[in-house]
Amino acid sequence: MMNRRRALKTAALAAASAAAMTRLTLSAQTAASPSRSSSGPTGPFQLPDLPYPFDALEPHIDARTMEIHHDKHHAAYVANLNKAVADQPELQKQTVEGLIRNLDAVPEKIRTAVRNNGGGHFNHSLFWLMMSKSGGGEPKGDLARAITAKFGSFVAFKDEFTKAALGQFGSGWAWLTIDANGQLRVEATANQNSPVMALDPSKPATSTPLLGIDVWEHAYYLKFQNRRADYIAAFFNVINWDFVTERFTKRPA
Ligand code: MN
Repeated sequence: MMNRRRALKTAALAAASAAAMTRLTLSAQTAASPSRSSSGPTGPFQLPDLPYPFDALEPHIDARTMEIHHDKHHAAYVANLNKAVADQPELQKQTVEGLIRNLDAVPEKIRTAVRNNGGGHFNHSLFWLMMSKSGGGEPKGDLARAITAKFGSFVAFKDEFTKAALGQFGSGWAWLTIDANGQLRVEATANQNSPVMALDPSKPATSTPLLGIDVWEHAYYLKFQNRRADYIAAFFNVINWDFVTERFTKRPA
């Protein structure tokens, strides 16, 4: 009985995770989710449900942080993105990723708002899926081989990623990305900038985030206060390598 219940729960979580991924890729309008009517004003962009309970990542990431982070911070990015595109029916039809991949096409008067809030919505939608209760450990298979080929070893990758996350001055993110040539890279972005944005003229291609850590203080301050290094170490205990591997395997050619 317990095994069956657990299997059903696992299947339900997998389905929720798949649905959340789909919402990232479908247009905002077709993906409108009716399941979260309590999250305030509706709009073309929707706050995805967390794919697990708030306390799922305990003791590594605490439930209260997850609740505030998802229900308040992420919700605010979605609400403010909807506000920014309120008069832009064409932009409302796009996916959030499509929107922020092509910021040049966004009218200048709302471009900063779309960059900040669209970036916030996209980055956080990925972030929830990049963690899981059964996460941690090391990647396997082709991703493991690619990481070793690029960085020398998993430990060397972990060091470089940790250094980027620690070194991001102020608010931002650290990422493991892959570019159009299949090159892995560790990079950091400020604020809610995302690797999919073409922000750096010296870097012609945007890159696709495989793994990312939010190093805004709101992501860790309640539990870790100023100890960002401890938070980064805790994050490694919950990384959902299955999801990261899926992004690596299914990346656009
Ligand atoms: Mn955040």
